[in-house]
Amino acid sequence: MTRYYLLRSALGALASAGLVTAAACGDSRETVTAAAATGAGTVSADDHVQADWRVTLAPLPYAFDALEPVIDAETMQLHHSRHHQAYVNGLNGALEARPDLQGVALEDILAQVSRLPEAFRNHGGGHWNHDFFWNSMTAPGTGGAPSEALASAIDQAFGSLDAMKEAFNRAGGGQFGSGWAWLIVNDAGELEITATPNQDNPLMDVADTRGQPILGNDVWEHAYYVQYRNRRADYLAAWWDVVDWAAASARYAEAMAD
Ligand code: MN
Repeated sequence: MTRYYLLRSALGALASAGLVTAAACGDSRETVTAAAATGAGTVSADDHVQADWRVTLAPLPYAFDALEPVIDAETMQLHHSRHHQAYVNGLNGALEARPDLQGVALEDILAQVSRLPEAFRNHGGGHWNHDFFWNSMTAPGTGGAPSEALASAIDQAFGSLDAMKEAFNRAGGGQFGSGWAWLIVNDAGELEITATPNQDNPLMDVADTRGQPILGNDVWEHAYYVQYRNRRADYLAAWWDVVDWAAASARYAEAMAD
């Protein structure tokens, strides 16, 4: 509880500095009362922010140290509050210049990214990928196992869960420079492993292989260098201990229902 309080305090400080919105702090104390004059009652800052087209940095769904020892708190703090925040800011900057795209679902923007300014690909991808990534992980040892449906699809596509992990780790290790490794449901409804450069993802019309992401791992150096230095393979191998299989299984069910 103390950590959560500290997180909220830190976010509150960032909000004061204009770096994140009040909504990201979960803080509704800054109540806007101007509407009272019109008889509309009070409107909280959260309501105001949600009505805006700007994207916001959501707090992590767990404490910065929740993934230790697999991913250290310093990496998580820098990764979320610096790197992810920069993508949020960059996407908002790109949207500022394109009123026609303000309020459009990010997935729909990514699907047509080849026809848009580069900032949508880099920062729109960066924002989507990191939201997806934070929500793919949970404390070590608490991630459960793939659902029956996902487990059987993994066996069918790769032979076994371990073989799938090996193929995924090879894709992440083989991605030259920065990028992501993905487990996706492809257009044929089959599981497939892909890798994308930079902040690209399989939802983009520029991706070699398109599909619905089930899991994704960030192989940018900023995701692991503080703790693992240059040992990307060690990070990829350790990451499976924090994978949230309930989240992956829910995504698989949703992808197969489409
Ligand atoms: Mn990252």
